[in-house]
Amino acid sequence: RATRLECVLSRIDLRDRHLTARELLGVVPRADVDVSHALATVEPILAAVRERGADALREFGERFDGVVPEHLRVPAARIEAALETQDEAVLDALREAIARVRTFHDATVPPPVSVQVAPGATVSQRWIPVGRVGLYVPGGLAVYPSSVVMNVVAAQAAGVESIAVATPPQKEFGGEPHPTILAACALLGVDEVYAVGGAQAVGMLAYGVDDLCDPVDVITGPGNVYVAAAKRAVNGVVGIDSEAGPTEIAIIADDSADAGYVAADLLSQAEHDPMAGSVLITDSEALADAVELALAARMDETKHLARTKEALTGRQSAVILTEDIDQSVAVADAYGAEHLEIHTRDAADVAARIRSAGAIFVGPHTPVPLGDYLAGSNHVLPTGGTARFASGLGAHSFLKAVSTIHYTADALAEVGHKVIALANAEDLPAHGEAIAARLQD
Ligand code: NAD
Repeated sequence: RATRLECVLSRIDLRDRHLTARELLGVVPRADVDVSHALATVEPILAAVRERGADALREFGERFDGVVPEHLRVPAARIEAALETQDEAVLDALREAIARVRTFHDATVPPPVSVQVAPGATVSQRWIPVGRVGLYVPGGLAVYPSSVVMNVVAAQAAGVESIAVATPPQKEFGGEPHPTILAACALLGVDEVYAVGGAQAVGMLAYGVDDLCDPVDVITGPGNVYVAAAKRAVNGVVGIDSEAGPTEIAIIADDSADAGYVAADLLSQAEHDPMAGSVLITDSEALADAVELALAARMDETKHLARTKEALTGRQSAVILTEDIDQSVAVADAYGAEHLEIHTRDAADVAARIRSAGAIFVGPHTPVPLGDYLAGSNHVLPTGGTARFASGLGAHSFLKAVSTIHYTADALAEVGHKVIALANAEDLPAHGEAIAARLQD
């Protein structure tokens, strides 16, 4: 910790240390999250949904959400009616979000590819959407209409025909989902919505429930540790997107950065969750000090002070002091942030050098909250360093690549003897004989 200043964030000083990429993995701050301990809790819930269907869903509604929904599947008229309950400003903002997110996601659907690998030998690839998806929208502690937009628009861009949304029943709304969630569904044209939350919703979507809900092919969407554990448990029965852990922001900044902006953005993600991570990576100690002063000033005014403070002072948040911009890039790659902001000179060039991040926000006028709602990009992103190998949610999450192969007789004759040689080498002579039968004709 710096001594000159009362700091909110702890400091990790890497300036005199020459760490390798692998060593950096061990020093970047991380939340202590373990989904596996929740598996034992969710397994009986999943089993009960399989065995007792709708009765189990009602029981779990009562136990975990304090209410038994009158209709487990929300009547279509109630979804439409939710539009009347919303401020016009919120509906207008949701429409803008849907339009921008749709414009981007429609453009990201990969085109089919067809290649002549040799004369008469054609290999093609088409991207085919899964038939039916289940989208989980959290609704325990807060409501997230933005998550409805991000999940539904990505599935619609992929061309998914059947979309079911599941979200917890709300006691204060008589066991219906939150009206803002229903209004977002209405704007998106989704008419299959269930007032079912948590692991029981994941079970319903994965296995299906007679006379209520057909099983889906893919389940996506964020949720708490029980939702994450249930998705892990049904993975293989259905496809899932990556597990969403506590949210994170990392900011690479140099001495040209605006400390007030940097502090505001570190705070904005810390407000989500006491486990949220806020990490500043900078080669300027003066900037780090200025950010601390700005943070202290803003903390006094922030609404969700308790969880924000817990997040910023937790082991998962820190200032990392670096030697230079090269080391800042190396640290950011080791951390693999869900959200990475770049506040440096030549920010676009720095962004282009990053290899691991869920999404990169370039320059002082592109803060993460813009992307949380309506930049056009998706806000469901890999957390906990999984950006090293995982991507955020997108149209691709709902698409399968299928190859089509066609060889003419001449094209087969050209390489048939080579196939036979490989088949013999693997001691699979019937493979070779299937080729030889055609070469003889
Ligand atoms: P949730 O809908 O995920 O969970 C509520 C459900 O949890 C309840 O319906 C209940 O069935 C189940 N549950 C609660 N206690 C339980 C227990 N003891 N045993 C078994 N089941 C239990 O809503 P939440 O709790 O508010 O969590 C939402 C999470 O989603 C937050 O962590 C939030 O940060 C995250 N989130 C992430 C993103 C993203 O894009 N990464 C977006 C929005 C929300």
